[in-house]
Amino acid sequence: MHRRILPTLVVILSLALAACAPTATPIAGGKLKVVATYSILGDLVQNVGGDKIGLRVLVGPDSDPHNYEPTPADSVALAEANVVFENGLEFETWLDDLFKASGSQATRVAVSDGIEPIKLEAEHGHGDEHGHEEEHGHEHGEYDPHIWQSVANAKQMVRNIQAALIAADPANRATYDSNAQAYLSELEALEAFIKEQVNTLPPERRKLVTSHDTFGYFARDYGFEIVATALHATAEGAEPSAQEFAQLVEEIKAAGVPAIFAENTINPGLMERLAAEAGVKLGPTLFTDALSKPGAGGETFIKMMRHNIEAIVGALK
Ligand SMILES: [Zn+2]
Repeated sequence: MHRRILPTLVVILSLALAACAPTATPIAGGKLKVVATYSILGDLVQNVGGDKIGLRVLVGPDSDPHNYEPTPADSVALAEANVVFENGLEFETWLDDLFKASGSQATRVAVSDGIEPIKLEAEHGHGDEHGHEEEHGHEHGEYDPHIWQSVANAKQMVRNIQAALIAADPANRATYDSNAQAYLSELEALEAFIKEQVNTLPPERRKLVTSHDTFGYFARDYGFEIVATALHATAEGAEPSAQEFAQLVEEIKAAGVPAIFAENTINPGLMERLAAEAGVKLGPTLFTDALSKPGAGGETFIKMMRHNIEAIVGALK
């Protein structure tokens, strides 16, 4: 994959500068205080930070980071943090105000730096041209923020985390380096597993219908077509109108897919109704913008990605 070198250098330089600035919150108890905005990112950070960091995740398992409502405790966590890891690409629309209000002096690290983003097209209103964009407020950013759906991107996220932790806490460099190396090897194995699984699915069956537009990088890197997403690609993720619902049903039938998929961060009711109306199966729930709660099979990034590819291949075969 094409990797841009200059932005990464800029990140490393700015991290180095930030690390020299005095912080309001010295490292307490020997552990770097770290915040990660959402659960998937939190898992990547924990794998690199190991026992050298005290991590707090703001948006937890099964919770939707797009529509998150911060709590006072989040503000306290930000105020006490040395480093805050965020996705970037306008994923956490609620973070800037919260960070400012908290008075935090933490170094902010956008883990999407150095990743080639997918540019989003203006929403086409599920194929028709009426004025939904104004009605619902067309608020998604310029780029697709769902970078973690490609393991190649996740590896770059890990390298960014590694560089940022070393910049903030150089004394523990050896630990961060070896943790990152070990985890990157696990991600290599995950990537190989996903590609093996995809290869068992005939190319004409690699078609996805999901609740929202989370699988852009997945589709690009693993050779899938996104037939349709049920929710509008707005910050609010508005539900389709009756006319749009009927059109979605037609798109599902025309694509000839045997199954469509609901997601763990979004109420499955709409996908259940679509599946029933189109006469297709509702596949296993996919873990998309959040890890699962304990016991549900998507408690880590690696488990989540393995679950998703097995569920997708199993239901579309
Ligand atoms: Zn999303």
